[in-house]
Amino acid sequence: MPTITTHNLGFARIGAHRELKFALESHWRGETSIDAVLDTATQLRARHWGLQSGLDWVPVGDFSLYDHVLDTSAALGCLPERARAASLDRWSVYFRAARGRAHAQCPAAPVAAAEMTKWFDTNYHYLVPEFDAHTRFELDDHWLQTQWTQARSLGVRGKPVLLGPVSFLRLGKARDGSDRLKLLDALLPVYAQWLERLHRDGATWVQIDEPVLVEELDASWRHAFNLAYHTLKAVPVKLLLTTYFGPLGENLYLAANLPVAGLHLDAVRARAEVSAALNLLPPTKVLSLGVIDGRNVWKTDLDATLDWLEPLAARLEERLWLAPSCSLLHVPVDLDLERRLPHPLRDWLAFGVQKLDELRCLAQALTQGKDSVAQRLEEQRQAVQSRRDSPSVHRPAVQAALAAWDDALGRRRSPYAQRIALQQQRLQLPAWPTTTIGSFPQTADIRLQRKRMRDGLIDPAAYEQAMRKEIAHCIRVQEELGLDVLVHGEAERSDMVEYFAEQLDGFALTEHGWVQSYGSRCVKPPLLYGDVQRPAPMTVRWATYAQSLSTKPVKGMLTGPVTLLNWSFVRDDQARETTCRQLALALRQEVLDLEAAGVAIIQIDEPALREGLPLRQADQAHYLRWACACFRMAANGVGDATQIHTHMCYSEFNDIIEHIAELDADVITIETARSAMELLDAFERHHYPNGVGPGVYDIHSPNLPSVQQMIDLLRRAAQHLSPQQLWVNPDCGLKTRQWDEVVPALRHMVQAARWLREHTAEAT
Ligand code: GLN
Ligand code: ZN
Repeated sequence: MPTITTHNLGFARIGAHRELKFALESHWRGETSIDAVLDTATQLRARHWGLQSGLDWVPVGDFSLYDHVLDTSAALGCLPERARAASLDRWSVYFRAARGRAHAQCPAAPVAAAEMTKWFDTNYHYLVPEFDAHTRFELDDHWLQTQWTQARSLGVRGKPVLLGPVSFLRLGKARDGSDRLKLLDALLPVYAQWLERLHRDGATWVQIDEPVLVEELDASWRHAFNLAYHTLKAVPVKLLLTTYFGPLGENLYLAANLPVAGLHLDAVRARAEVSAALNLLPPTKVLSLGVIDGRNVWKTDLDATLDWLEPLAARLEERLWLAPSCSLLHVPVDLDLERRLPHPLRDWLAFGVQKLDELRCLAQALTQGKDSVAQRLEEQRQAVQSRRDSPSVHRPAVQAALAAWDDALGRRRSPYAQRIALQQQRLQLPAWPTTTIGSFPQTADIRLQRKRMRDGLIDPAAYEQAMRKEIAHCIRVQEELGLDVLVHGEAERSDMVEYFAEQLDGFALTEHGWVQSYGSRCVKPPLLYGDVQRPAPMTVRWATYAQSLSTKPVKGMLTGPVTLLNWSFVRDDQARETTCRQLALALRQEVLDLEAAGVAIIQIDEPALREGLPLRQADQAHYLRWACACFRMAANGVGDATQIHTHMCYSEFNDIIEHIAELDADVITIETARSAMELLDAFERHHYPNGVGPGVYDIHSPNLPSVQQMIDLLRRAAQHLSPQQLWVNPDCGLKTRQWDEVVPALRHMVQAARWLREHTAEAT
C-alpha cells in the first residue's frame, strides 16, 4: 500500500462563532486594544490547527486579520503610502490601508481605503495591491513569523502559505498606468529572502499560491512565471505550486514544468485535466489533488472518488498528495453547530471540519484499504444515495414546468418605445423622476422585532403589525420628501436573498453557516438543495399595503434569479443554469401576482449578475446568455404598461453591456457615484435605448452630497444619454445608513431633480 500525504490549503479564520469579527469590530470602535484582537487570533489559530490535526501538513500563515492579499502587500513592504504615518503602529497602518479614514473622522485628511475586488469567482473580496513605476519592496515578515513561531511552539507540522509573486502582481494595479510586470525583477529577491528565512526557521515545504494560472495568460505573464520560478529555484525550500478554482488549460504545460517540487490542481473543477497533468509532470514531482470541494457544502461521493483515485495512487505512490480543492475559507466552519437543519438535508452536508474528515478517510482507505474505514464509507454512501433519491430534491412538477417553457415567453410583448408610452400614460412621471433602490435604514428596532419573533417573544401577527408600521413610516417620509416613485423600504427583509430563500421550496437556511466576505463582514449563504418552487406569494401583501398608503406609484421589489443563485450554496447535481431557470420560473409567478395586484412598477435586483462570470473569457458568453435569459424569464411576462426596473451595483459594464441591453428592462439603476459616471460611456457607445438611473449619491459613504454635486453628475450623465432616459436615484439600497443621514441626502437629491426640471425644460 502506498503512503499518501494529506494536507490543507487554508482554513476559515473568522471563527465558528465569528469571534474574529467581534474582536475586530470592538477594536475599531475603540473599546479594546489591538492586543485583544491578537489574543483572539492566537486562540483561533490554535483551535483551527487542532481541527486540522492528523493531516501531514497544516497551513500556517493563512490566518489574516483582514485579508491575505493585504497581508502580502504588508509583508512585501508596499502598503499604500497614504496609509502610513510616523505616529502609527503596524496594525493601525494596516487597518487604515484596509478601511481608509473617513471624512467624518478626520475632515482635514481623509484617507481612501484600498480598492476592494472579488477574489476570483468567490464572494470573498481582497484588497487590491497598489503599484506605480517606482514601487520598491522590502521584506517585513513579522506576521507570518508570528504564526510560524506559534505553530512551532504547538508542535504543528506546518506548511507556510504564501501568495506567489506572479499572482500578487497580477491581482494588483499600477496607479500610474505603468507595466506592473516590470516590478518582477525587484520583487523576486524579496521573495527569495522570505523563502530563505522560512527555510532557516525550519520549513520544509512552502505552499506558493498562483491561482492566476487558471486564467488566460498572454506571453508576457507566462514568461513572468518562467522567470519567477527559475529565479526562486535556488532557494533550498520545497515549493508546492498551488492553483485552484479551475482547469489550467493551455497553462498546464507551463505549470507542470516550472522548477518546483510539486503542483496542486483543483481536481473538483478540473478533474478532466488530471490525466494530462500526470503525463506532463516530471517523475520527480509531487502531484497534489484537491479532491474535496472547497467551494461547496455537499458531502463527497467517497466511493466514486476512491474508484477514481486508486489507479492514480498506484501509479504515483508517495508522489500523490490529497487536499481540498482550495482553501476552506469559502465554506462554513462546522456542521456540528447546526441544530435546526431539516432532516435529511443535514446528512448531505459537509462544512470545513467535516471536509477534513473526508480527506482523512480517503487517505486511510487508500493506504490501509477500504476495509479499515468500511463503516465510515457505508454511512457516507447512504447519505449520498439519500440525496440522490430524495423527493425534496427532485420534484416532477417543477421539472415539467421547465420542460414546457417556451423562450418566446421571455420577451416583452412590444418594443420599448411602445411600452414606455403606455407606462408614461399610466404613471404620469415628471422629467428626471426620482426614486430609491429599495431598502431604507434597517434600524436596531427592526432587527429587535425580528429577533423577538424568532425567539418566540412576539407572535407573527405582532411582527407583521410592527413591520407595517415601519412601512407606513417609510412611505410617509418619502411623500414628505417629494420622491416620485416610492418603495416600501424592505423592513421585513433580513437580507435580500435570505428573505426569498426562507419562502421558496428547495432552499434551507443555516444558523451558523457564515463565510467571510471581506474584513470582518460575513455572509450566510442559503443552501439551495432541491428543485425550486414557490408555495405562496412572497411579497404581494407588503407591496399592496404600501401602495394603499400613497397615490404615487410604489415599486414591487424582488431579488432576481441570478442573484439568488450566485449568493447561495448551490446544488452540484445539475447544471447551475437549470437551477437558475427554476428560480426564474418561481419569480415569474411572483411578478405576475404583483402585476395582478395592481403594482405598476416591479424592480428585480440583480447585483450579483456580474459575479457569476466564469474566470475564463472563453466561458463568459455562455454564462451571460443563460443568466440574462433567466432574468427575462422572470421579468418579461408582464403587460406593456407594467414597468420593469432592475438594479445592479457595480460600475463595470463595458464588457457586458450588450447582454444588459438584452434584458430589456425598462429602467436600470446602477452604481456610478464613485466612478464619476465613467461607466455611462458603455451605455452611450452601445446606444442603450431604455431608462437609466445612474446613482448620484454614494450610499457607502457617510458624507452628505450637496445639491450641486448631484446636479453636476446628472448633467454629465445627460452628455452621454438623452435626458428623457435619465432617472435620479442613489446608487444602492439605504439599509446600512441611518435615517438622519438618508433624509438630508434624499432631500438634496429631490432638489437636484427639481432644479434640472426647471433648467433643462427645453431639453426634455
Ligand atoms: N433592493 C435592494 C436594496 O435596496 C438592493 C440591494 C443591492 O443592490 N445589493 O437594499
Ligand atoms: Zn446595489
